[in-house]
Amino acid sequence: QKLGLNELRERYLSFFESKGHLRLPSFPLVPQNDASLLLINSGMAPLKPYFTGKEEPPRKRVTTCQKCIRTPDIENVGKTARHGTFFEMLGNFSFGDYFKNEAIPWAWEFVTKDLKIPVERLWVSIYEDDDEAFEIWTKSVGIPAEKIVRMGKKDNFWEIGTGPCGPCSEIYFDRGEDKGCGSPDCKVGCDCDRYIEFWNLVFTQFNRDDEGNYTRLANPNIDTGMGLERLACIMQDVNNLFEVDTVRNVLNNVCSIAEVKYGENNKTDVSIRVITDHIRSTTMMVSDGVIPSNEGRGYVLRRLLRRAARHGKLLGVEGQFLYNLAMVVINESKEAYPELFEKAEYIQKVIKIEEEKFQHTIDQGLAILNGYISDLKSSSDKVLSGDKAFKLHDTFGFPFDLTREIAEENGFSVNEEEFRAEMEKQKTAAKIAQGNKDGAGWDDNIYSTLDKSIKTEFLGYGSFECDSNI
Ligand code: ATP
Ligand code: MG
Ligand code: MG
Ligand code: MG
Repeated sequence: QKLGLNELRERYLSFFESKGHLRLPSFPLVPQNDASLLLINSGMAPLKPYFTGKEEPPRKRVTTCQKCIRTPDIENVGKTARHGTFFEMLGNFSFGDYFKNEAIPWAWEFVTKDLKIPVERLWVSIYEDDDEAFEIWTKSVGIPAEKIVRMGKKDNFWEIGTGPCGPCSEIYFDRGEDKGCGSPDCKVGCDCDRYIEFWNLVFTQFNRDDEGNYTRLANPNIDTGMGLERLACIMQDVNNLFEVDTVRNVLNNVCSIAEVKYGENNKTDVSIRVITDHIRSTTMMVSDGVIPSNEGRGYVLRRLLRRAARHGKLLGVEGQFLYNLAMVVINESKEAYPELFEKAEYIQKVIKIEEEKFQHTIDQGLAILNGYISDLKSSSDKVLSGDKAFKLHDTFGFPFDLTREIAEENGFSVNEEEFRAEMEKQKTAAKIAQGNKDGAGWDDNIYSTLDKSIKTEFLGYGSFECDSNI
């Protein structure tokens, strides 16, 4: 009997309740009173005021299951086994209360005693200088030293500009050689999906000042984060996040709507997983009050919806389908997030309107592309120029892979190199125009990850594609 995602969530939260933690519901995806972050991307993000001491926590020990959006992972979605733009993060937090001596053994107890994950499959990473953590892992927990990997600042030290920061310790699960990259150098920390990181324990023990000095905090904090879907993936022994029980139901619906089979063709599978992921993130975002627009989180939502719609086209789906899929997400998650059910009709409506708008864009682009293709047919050329593909993409918001797909159906290829060069030119121009707007370290840097095509398209069409006032 394999534990379902919903059961695992409950197991975790009640385990930490038994350790004196107060269970709080997930905070909304839209940050409250925090302009530095576009969307909540971790369990600790909405708890920042408690960590910085700006607000008094309701208890010094808190546990949550937090809805998270991580758009910087978008390129990985559907390709790696472990990344979604939406996921739920389980966490236990100490605001100046318990520290490493409790956090590490409790994590181990939950994983090996409560969930009974075989010890042989587990690995641990620590920050290279964190001998304290090494002692606890080896002495109190009793892990052999050779199962502990020391990692550098990039991976295992959590810090954002100035303020509280500290080393991390992560727990990994070895999914077996067949799930790995096959390289002889493959080990914990390898980017492939063999050793999957599933729990990160952050020991906020320093304060970093403007000059880069680290001083030890009198009352250090604990902040842990475990991906619920990753945990379920391990516990249910499935290939990836999208095959976890509740998520799989969404995936199956994608397949039946598109009339495609999962597991037969890699490219098709990627599209299926992308749609599965994006309908989850967008349903959750709309439920939390985000509406499609051309800036900020509304733009993130629009981009995700259109990306999902585009993959639907690649699978050969005709017309609008995402709003129906949203209902599957709602049904799978309403137990943990009752607000989904209450807002079901509204969520579907918002998604449907955006799908219709995208359809309009597609129709327009298709008309132009068909013109290019008939020109090609009456010439001896076999290649659609990168300029034309770029114009379709930039001015009409028509996705490049659709252009290629349709060109290929007609026996033509597209000059991708030329297209990429145009993209680069535009990116550089956009960067110069925008200046360096990073800075606030809490932001998840959405604009460097997502291309600007959709934005540009609306400039071209002016009024009718304005923000939707739903
Ligand atoms: P990875 O190195 O695999 O990208 P991470 O180090 O970026 O993960 P953390 O920032 O440490 O992840 O987040 C804590 C936990 O949240 C991770 O250990 C993982 O279980 C989960 N998690 C992180 N990113 C994702 C994602 N995109 N999809 C699903 N779960 C995630
Ligand atoms: Mg990551
Ligand atoms: Mg990591
Ligand atoms: Mg990590």
